[in-house]
Formats: sequence, C-alpha cells, structure tokens
Amino acid sequence: MELQSRIPSGPLEQKWDKHRFEMKLVNPANKRKYTIIVVGSGLAGGSAAATLSELGYQVKCFCFQDSPRRAHSIAAQGGINAAKNYRNDGDSVYRLFYDTVKGGDFRAREANVYRLAQISVNIIDQCVAQGVPFAREYGGLLANRSFGGAQVSRTFYARGQTGQQLLLGAYQALEKEVARGGVTMYPRTEMLDLVVIDGRARGIVVRDMITGAIKSHAADAVVLGTGGYGNVFYLSTNAKGSNATAIWRAHKRGAAFANPCYTQIHPTCIPVSGEYQSKLTLMSESLRNDGRVWVPKRAGDHRPPDQVPESERDYYLERRYPSFGNLAPRDIASRAAKAVCDEGRGVGSGGLGVYLDFADAIKRLGVGTIRERYGNLFEMYARITDEDPYEVPMRIFPAAHYTMGGLWVDYNLMSTIPGLHVIGEANFSDHGANRLGASALMQGLADGYFILPSTISDYLASAKAGPVDPSHPEFRRVEAEVAERTRKFLSIRGKRTVDSFHRELGRIMWDKCGMARNAAGLQEALGRIPELREEFWRNVNVPGSDAELNQALEKAGRVADFLELGELMCLDALQRKESCGGHFREEYQTEDGEALRDDDNFAYVAAWEHTGDLRSPRLHQEALDFEYVHLAQRSYR
Ligand SMILES: Cc1cc2nc3c(=O)[nH]c(=O)nc-3n(C[C@H](O)[C@H](O)[C@H](O)COP(=O)(O)OP(=O)(O)OC[C@H]3O[C@@H](n4cnc5c(N)ncnc54)[C@H](O)[C@@H]3O)c2cc1C
Repeated sequence: MELQSRIPSGPLEQKWDKHRFEMKLVNPANKRKYTIIVVGSGLAGGSAAATLSELGYQVKCFCFQDSPRRAHSIAAQGGINAAKNYRNDGDSVYRLFYDTVKGGDFRAREANVYRLAQISVNIIDQCVAQGVPFAREYGGLLANRSFGGAQVSRTFYARGQTGQQLLLGAYQALEKEVARGGVTMYPRTEMLDLVVIDGRARGIVVRDMITGAIKSHAADAVVLGTGGYGNVFYLSTNAKGSNATAIWRAHKRGAAFANPCYTQIHPTCIPVSGEYQSKLTLMSESLRNDGRVWVPKRAGDHRPPDQVPESERDYYLERRYPSFGNLAPRDIASRAAKAVCDEGRGVGSGGLGVYLDFADAIKRLGVGTIRERYGNLFEMYARITDEDPYEVPMRIFPAAHYTMGGLWVDYNLMSTIPGLHVIGEANFSDHGANRLGASALMQGLADGYFILPSTISDYLASAKAGPVDPSHPEFRRVEAEVAERTRKFLSIRGKRTVDSFHRELGRIMWDKCGMARNAAGLQEALGRIPELREEFWRNVNVPGSDAELNQALEKAGRVADFLELGELMCLDALQRKESCGGHFREEYQTEDGEALRDDDNFAYVAAWEHTGDLRSPRLHQEALDFEYVHLAQRSYR
C-alpha cells in the first residue's frame, strides 16, 4: 500500500484553483454514462448525491433510515463556520485556516485545511440560496456567534437546529434530483460490504432492512458519506444508529484507516445518570458564548449552587485560559473538567459534573435574549433533567462526540482503493487531532457540494474501467459472504444480548482509550477486547429471522465491527507516544497538564492497512509538512 496524498504544488492560496484546472474532466454529454453509488444521505452524502446528479451523473443513494431527512446530521445544533468576516472582527480565510490547523494540534494537512477555509464562504451562499433560514441581525444581515478555539465570530446558525435546517436544504436538492430521475434513493438499505474488482471499487452489497433480501449494486465509483464511529463508546452524543460498518468493511477490503484513536470528547453534555442509559445528550458548545463554567473551590463542597458565594467559586476555564475563557477548545475544556472532578470538586450526584451558569448573562441581557438564543436547548435540558436552567445552572460533563479518525483519503478525497471516495465525518481529513466546533458541518458540505463533485471526474476520466454488473463472480462471492455472516449471527443463540456486549466494549473504550490514555491501560484493553470479541461470536443471542425487520440482527453486525475497530483504536493510541488534541497520553504532558506533542517523531498521519490479522495491522505513515503555520505548543492562555 502506498500513500500518495496528491497535494498540489505551488503557493497555498493557489493550490485548489490550480488543481481544478489540471484535473481531467468528463464531458457533460458523457456524464450520464457513469453511475456513482453514494452511501449516506447526511450532510456529506446528501449534498454529494444531489450535486453529482445536477452535474449529470446517474446516482444511486443509500441510507439505513426510512428517509434521508433522518440522517444523524439533523442533530447538529450549534452552527457552521465560514470566513465571511461579516462582523469585521479580523476574520479571514487565512485566520480560519490557521485556527483549524492549530485547533487540530498540528496534525492535519495544511493544503486540505486551507481549501476548506476557502470553500467555507461558498457554502453559506449555497445554503442561503436554498433557503436555509440562518439567524439574522435586526438589519437583515446574517448573524454570527463564536465557537471554541476562535477569537472571532464566524459561526452561522439557525437557533439550536442548524444541522436540521442545513439537512432540509440538502434534502430538497436531493429530492428535486430524485423527481428528475437523476438520483435513485434506497432508504432502509444497509451497505454490508464493498466489492473490489481488479483493484477498483466497483460496487456494494446491501441488505434490504425490511425484507432481508441481500442484493448487489454495481457502479463506476463508490462514495462513502456514512458518518463517524463515536458509538464505539456505547454512550455518546451520536444518534443510536450511527455506526462504523461501511468504513470498517471497506477497510477490510483494502482502504487504509487513518488516525483511529483521534476521538473528540465534548465538554458540554448532560452527565450520565445511571446504568440503564443508552444515549447521551449534547448541550451545544454555543451555550459557552454566554454560560460560565465553574465548580466550588473546595473539594467535597456539596452546597446547592445558589449557596456557594462568588468568592468560593472557581471559574476554572476563565482562570486557566484568560484569552479564550469559556470558549477554550473542546479537548482542553474536557480535560479541565476531568481535572476538577478528579480533585473532588465535581458537582451533582457522583461528582462527575461541572456547572454551566447563565445567571450573569440573564442579568446582563435579560431572560428574553437568552430564550431567543438558546430556547430549544434550555427546553431540552429541562425535559431531560427536570431542572430549569433559567433558575439553576446546568450540570454538564464531557462525553464521546465525534471521530476525527476515519478512512484515509488523498487531496481528491479518494481512499487507498481507487474509485472509493470518502466524505464527511467518515474520512480522516481536515481536523487533525481535535475538531473545532462548527467545523464538521463545514467540512461535510465542502466535501459534498464542492470538492468531491470536482475531483471525481479526474478519477472517472482517467480510470476508464469499463462496464461491470452484479452478475460478475466477485459480486456473487461477496453476497455469499454477507449471507453467511448473517446466518452465523442467527445461529449462535447464546445467552447475552448484543447490547450487553456493546455496553461492555464501550466501558473498556471509555476507561482505557477515552479522555485520557496510558500504556498500561491500553495494553489491558488490548487483552480484553479480543476476549470479548471471542465471547461475542460464541455467546451472543440474536433472536428472530433474517427475512424481516430485525433490529437485533442489524445491531449485531455493527457491534461485531466495533469489537474489531476498538482494538485498532487502542493499537493506534499505543503507538502514538505523544499527546495531541483529543489524544491525551498521560505519560506525555507539560507541567501544567497540557498535551505534550513530539513533532520530531509523530508529525504524521497514522494510516493502518488491514493484513487479515486484527492483532497486527500494518502501519503506514504520511509525513505532515508545515510550511505556513509555525509548529508551536498550543496556547489559549
Ligand atoms: C449532537 C450533535 C451535535 C452536533 N452539532 C454540530 C454543530 O453544531 N456543528 C458542527 O459543525 N458539527 C456538529 N456535530 C457534528 C456533525 O453533526 C456531524 O459530524 C455531521 O453531521 C456528520 O455528517 P455526515 O454526513 O458525515 O454523516 P451522518 O449525518 O452521520 O450521515 C450518515 C449517513 O450514512 C448512512 N449510513 C451509514 N452507514 C450506512 C450503511 N452501512 N449503509 C447505508 N447507509 C449508511 C446513514 O443512513 C446516513 O444517511 C454535532 C454532532 C452531534 C452528535
């Protein structure tokens, strides 16, 4: 396996334009001769499918929900970044680029990030043209707020429902193309494998989730926009259905998996309340624009918040990071919360919580303004906790939220399997070791509306792979493998539910490969995960049949994949003997407890090749060169 990043030469600002000029094109009249499979109808997949169809390609789009509108992207709350500089507060494409590279702790490709910042401005125009109702100022201009890791206001938002509104925009574009006949939509259809013929991605094998029928679809190129794998932790802010199956099975067919250990723990989630819980809820980072984070100064202080006088409160983010205060980036804010809870200063039952307090903001701005800005988030919090955040501070704690790792892609968003492209959260691309808030929507839409539709023509025009159809023996072979795996799940009839395995895996991942990791813990996890996997294949109970809607069967496939991916995450975390962004190895920290990078030895993307043996994948390194941003210890003080 060879990693060719295909980063264009020339000055940073000109790379993308130059590359677009140099890439091969497909003649407009020839586009309809090509079929492209897009798996995923979230912001990345939905925008890509609609745009590719607009360009004239024949598109088949797949999702496991009953409607593209239910993709996990709909959950995104806070906003989407763009370097529009509407506030005239010093923003620019270069500043967004710089903030993103620094925010990712210098573990992303400069060229990709610069392109992302350039395209960010087009995304807003595209979405406004579609009618996305972004918040506006009194005078009609689009409003902005701030997100972590930035000192400017560049986040566009639609109350606390930005993902939903953006997805409705992409969905309308998609449905228009469905009606025109350019896109065929396959809802309730799960991709269970990738078919590679003569070294190229030529199609997928899917299961109809209603009838259980297993079928193949052939194409000239395959695009995965299948989201992140945060649910490996069992408890996360992701939708319950989000999973790694599509990218994991593509990995096992030859696609390198990059930086699997880079996961984001979000600092502002509603704390875990008990063993029965199956999901965690995010309180958007946007709340930190006005909410102040604090804990009591004294360990073991259990007084209700209104009885802790101002002088006995520790606004620890404002104290430790005066320049960024409550808007310190997520990795830093999460670790700071963990640190105060480890000192016994956490709040709420179990002591795993910190306050997010709006009392000052309500006094300064009035309750009406706060309601206008965050009303739906406050309501959500009140419904879940039965506490009124207008009256008492919210309690929050870090939780697994986003995965920066994913399938390795080159500058064209193509994986190490020619013809297999990966977009959105499913690829590893632009966020390095820590994603800044409001940058995932930006990346997913940059990939889907703008980058992939340009770069895929280069592949199609050069590959000239010729026609193929599902009667090809390789499709038949993969279909048989998928059917056999399904049969196997149903035949085990063991004693434990799929969920019980998932919960146990999640606990191992959270304890040993979560907010903090160390060599001993990772070694322990690497001992326990294969044991758990072995028990799973011996003792799982999947009731029902494969000829009907069977959610236990669906989950079994996904959890089986998590049980393999979890091991790769721990191997990756173990080999990276440094701390960077969300990857905090306890052995490598500064005197102040901040992440201590080792640029001499680890300024690379770790891309793992599947060898057939889960215990010994092969590591490939893509060196990261920093020509424009000076490598420095990240400081938000
Ligand atoms: C609670 C929450 C709030 C967030 N808020 C923000 C925010 O304010 N700003 C921001 O920038 N980011 C935010 N994020 C992150 C952001 O929402 C996600 O990174 C982004 O929406 C992912 O989009 P996607 O298109 O890559 O994947 P998804 O939206 O997850 O879509 C995946 C698609 O792939 C399909 N799929 C997956 N596997 C298969 C398969 N095997 N077969 C068939 N189909 C499959 C699914 O059906 C779905 O259509 C938030 C995340 C969470 C969890």
